[in-house]
Amino acid sequence: MVSVLGTQENPLRVAVVGSGPSGFYAADALLRSEKNVIVDMFERLPAPFGLVRYGVAPDHAKIKSVIKIYEKIAERPGFSFLGNVTVGRDISVQELKNFYDVILLTYGAASDRKLGIPGEDLPGSYTATEFVAWYNGHPDYRGREFDLSGKVAVVIGQGNVAADVCRILCKTPEELKNTDIASHALEALAQSKIQEIYMVGRRGPAQAAFTPVEIREFGELAECDPVVSPVELELNPASRAELETARELTRKKNIETLQKFAAAGASSKRKKFFVRFLRSPVEIKGNGRVEKVVFEKNELTGEPGKQKARATGQKEEWPCGIFFRSVGYHGVPVPGVPFDERAGVIPNQEGRVTESGRVIPGVYAAGWIKRGPTGVIGTNKADSDETVRHIFEDISRLPAAPRRDPRLLLESLKGKGVRVVSFPDWKKIDAREISRGQPAGKPREKFAAVADMLDALVVG
Ligand code: NAP
Repeated sequence: MVSVLGTQENPLRVAVVGSGPSGFYAADALLRSEKNVIVDMFERLPAPFGLVRYGVAPDHAKIKSVIKIYEKIAERPGFSFLGNVTVGRDISVQELKNFYDVILLTYGAASDRKLGIPGEDLPGSYTATEFVAWYNGHPDYRGREFDLSGKVAVVIGQGNVAADVCRILCKTPEELKNTDIASHALEALAQSKIQEIYMVGRRGPAQAAFTPVEIREFGELAECDPVVSPVELELNPASRAELETARELTRKKNIETLQKFAAAGASSKRKKFFVRFLRSPVEIKGNGRVEKVVFEKNELTGEPGKQKARATGQKEEWPCGIFFRSVGYHGVPVPGVPFDERAGVIPNQEGRVTESGRVIPGVYAAGWIKRGPTGVIGTNKADSDETVRHIFEDISRLPAAPRRDPRLLLESLKGKGVRVVSFPDWKKIDAREISRGQPAGKPREKFAAVADMLDALVVG
């Protein structure tokens, strides 16, 4: 059935799947339009905000203030939050199509990329994504244990996630105790014996993916010094050309900070944070757990801006007590929607989901599941705006969903025993978390179990 959607009598009904930044920016763009739009935002956890809550580091409170903007969006007429509903389990995408004219997938990238080296699965080898989720109190990871009893931590990758992981390992409990870090993580980190933290890049300092603010922070830690070898900061001609022609100053500023660290040398602080370059791990060794990492040294080849790491054959072995790979997130499929396994994204043309190159009417994507795990929170705004623009361009051609009464969906979920968490419900959980944090001087103490969040609703 094709009818005019987006009118008073026949609002455009949109199911947004995922409540992270891209979901909220998409909701904002949809609800700001002159058309009449209903946005129902589905989230598998009772808590909204995705990686802002479970990815942004606890000591980066300022970044999390973006939540205030999302709360304003959630107050808009036409917006509803349906938390604690897993699309693909509690309700399929096919079923959603009965209730919504548009399915907009904004559920991010929940998994991570592997290195594919021997020993990667030994105990003591972890992913940055699981460590981040653990210290942020994500319910799926609260039971994880990280063996912090060794002296040396090796983190592979030089993006901002690697920087977050390293900084959390470098900081003292004193520096973390007034953040919203999960208490289980704070307790475990307080017992940590790690003294040397290595952040290792396969390419050189001019190619490191971290941003200037994030690397500068390592110069301001209470009990940890950054250590950089001046020799490792020497640039090949192509890297010098990259810096000279760079449109943005990020890489230049990174190099300046690294040069400052190299010039300062290490003082007598208890912990050391080492930044190392041009090395790829080729094997993790150990008798039942991680003990050593074998690296192969690299050299850079290729044009400026396209330089790749090429193995030199020269190997070295480092002692290692705990190993993290931090080489990027990776999207996961949702049943009933095409998926590009290799890229970890839903195939799409500027947000219009495609199958074998053909657009599927009424199905869209935005955020990391659309473009891959790149960019900062704000990058998602333009990305979601693009997808929403296309939804409105397509509106006259969209087939209308048959079951338009919003109560029908809620009844169907209730019938399946799903306890849907609304935005007002979430605000109750939020208030409880904030008051739980007060005695310890924390902005909040997150509930790290879904059952505890739901209990908080019963208690009032
Ligand atoms: P990222 O920025 O893409 O960094 C990935 C890192 O992994 C790069 O250094 C990359 O090196 C390296 N890598 C990839 N494959 C590798 C391999 N096989 N062996 C060795 N190294 C490998 O990803 P991310 O750190 O996961 O961050 C994701 C996004 O979130 C980024 O846009 C980031 O800026 C953002 N974020 C921002 C903040 C913040 O603003 N504070 C915090 C966290 C995350 P190559 O360059 O050589 O590929």
